[in-house]
Parts: sequence; C-alpha cells; structure tokens
Amino acid sequence: MTISGTTRLAGVIGWPVTHSRSPLLHNHWCARHGVNGAYVPLPVRPGALATALAGLAAAGFEGVNVTIPHKEDAFGLVTRRTHVAQRAGAVNTIRFEPDGSMTGDCTDGTGFIADLRARGIEAVRRAMVLGAGGAARAIAAALLDAGGEVLIANRTAARAEALTRALCGGEAVRWHAWPARLEGCDLLVNATSLGLTGAEGSDGAGYWVQCLERAPSALAVADIVYNPLRTPLLAAAETRGLTTVDGLGMLIQQARAGFASWFGIWPEADAETRALLLVTPD
Ligand code: NDP
Repeated sequence: MTISGTTRLAGVIGWPVTHSRSPLLHNHWCARHGVNGAYVPLPVRPGALATALAGLAAAGFEGVNVTIPHKEDAFGLVTRRTHVAQRAGAVNTIRFEPDGSMTGDCTDGTGFIADLRARGIEAVRRAMVLGAGGAARAIAAALLDAGGEVLIANRTAARAEALTRALCGGEAVRWHAWPARLEGCDLLVNATSLGLTGAEGSDGAGYWVQCLERAPSALAVADIVYNPLRTPLLAAAETRGLTTVDGLGMLIQQARAGFASWFGIWPEADAETRALLLVTPD
C-alpha cells in the first residue's frame, strides 16, 4: 500500500488497543477493494477521548471506531446518534462530517443480527441473552427491534433489571434460573466474558454441558466471545447437536458499516476475510 496526499484515513480508538483486529480487517478490505485508504490503531487514555476526537477530525480523518473503555463516553461526545446507538446507549463507529459535526452509530447489535442472517437464521422468536454489559445491551436492543422476545440473565441481577427498563422491553431472569427458562427459546447468546481466554470462570466446560442438558433441540447457540473461537459453551452445544454461531462473524459484520461510511464501499464478509482473522491471533 502506498500512502499519498489523497489517502483517506480512519482508525480505532481504545485503551489498550494493541489486541484489536480492526486494523488488519480494514486494511485487508482497502487492499481487496482497491481503496486508497489506511486504518490505524489509536491508543487513547481514559479521559482523553474528547481531545483525540477533535484532533483527528481536524487532521482530516474520515472517522473512527471506538472500543473499550470509550464506547459510553463516545455516546456523550458525538453531535448526533443513530436510532440504534440511542437504543444501545453506546457508540462504536463515528463519522466526522464536513461541517465539523460527528455522527455516532453502534453496529454491534446490527452486526450480530447480520451474522445470524448470513448463517441462515432469519428470524428469532424468543432469545435468552446472557449478560447485561455493553455487548448484551446492543444485542438485546437489536433482537427486540427485530420483533423478538428477549429474556436477559445476568450474574448481577440488578443490571439485568436496569437493562430491561432502559430498553423498555425484555424480561430479567435470575442467573441460576436461565437453563430452566430455555424452553420455548430459539436462540441462546452468551454476551458475558465467560469463556474468554484468561477470564474468571473460563474453565467451566462442565458447567455449560449441564446448563444445556434440557435445551430444546431447535435452539441455536451463539457465543460472541471469539478468543477462543470454539468456546466451552459452543463445544457443549455441538455435543448436544445444536446449531452454533461463533463470535468472529459478528466482529466482521459490525465493521462493515464503518468501512462503507468512511471509504464508500460495502466490503465483503466472505470466507477469505474470516480466514484472515482465523490465522492471525490477538
Ligand atoms: P462488559 O464488561 O460490558 O460486560 C461483561 C458481562 O459479563 C457482564 O454482564 C458481567 O456480569 C458478565 N460476567 C463477567 N464475568 C462473569 C462471570 N464470571 N460469570 C457470569 N457473568 C460474568 O463487556 P462487553 O459487554 O463489552 O463484552 C462482553 C464479551 O463480549 C467480551 O468477552 C468481549 O470480548 C465480547 N465481545 C465480542 C464482540 C464481537 O464482535 N464478537 C463485540 C463486543 C464484545 P456482571 O454485570 O455481573 O459483572
């Protein structure tokens, strides 16, 4: 890639940001689609987001992705938000507009739904969402907006209850009770950090096997954790013969809208893109 005076610039703001696969993904798409663009990691400390956004806009960047821990702060800093960002209570994709304003979007939930559809899961009637953090909120909002019923179970019950209030929808379920409430669900989503390499409680393969013992046979099981790709939950679901959806598809799908808004092309979410991320560890 040759960077010239006309190269369009974007990047990802996070702290830390070294683990992000977004530069790999976006620069792959630039090369694949012949876009004169570059996408860089932007380490920005907590508290410095407003300064960074103003500086990047002034320096001619097209826009940025925003990741941990800045998504909620970005929500408060943009000039306007999409309906989806408003529902999600977070912003992960910003476009710097020619008039100096900033438009904020949240593509996590829509990316999750797009990946389900790409895998042939067109409609979700009733979903059990595990977690009440940022990703769970975006996913629950997207599932509700797509017309489904949503049950939300979280280790800290008060956060699940607060989430149903914020979304004006969904039903909070006690954490220990979620396996017994799978009856009638067609989707289970793990949007907690359980299963993530190195996270607390990540070694509980037996836990998930037990939880899925009485799961309906038509249940699809999604895990948005993608490190490892085959999480203990997905392994347990496979053992039960259930349809599984890993977290890499959501990662790719949520990135597409930003690329399209900054570089003007809707990029491919194909096997080549997936293979690129599969062979490149964090
Ligand atoms: P948050 O920190 O906002 O939320 C973490 C959630 O995990 C909370 O609901 C928390 O419950 C729960 N949790 C943490 N530890 C445990 C445990 N031991 N037992 C039960 N529940 C637990 O994180 P995010 O919502 O931003 O991200 C969640 C996961 O999703 C991460 O692993 C992240 O890597 C992944 N992710 C994947 C994406 C993709 O594109 N595939 C995109 C975004 C995130 P409590 O409220 O009780 O603390």
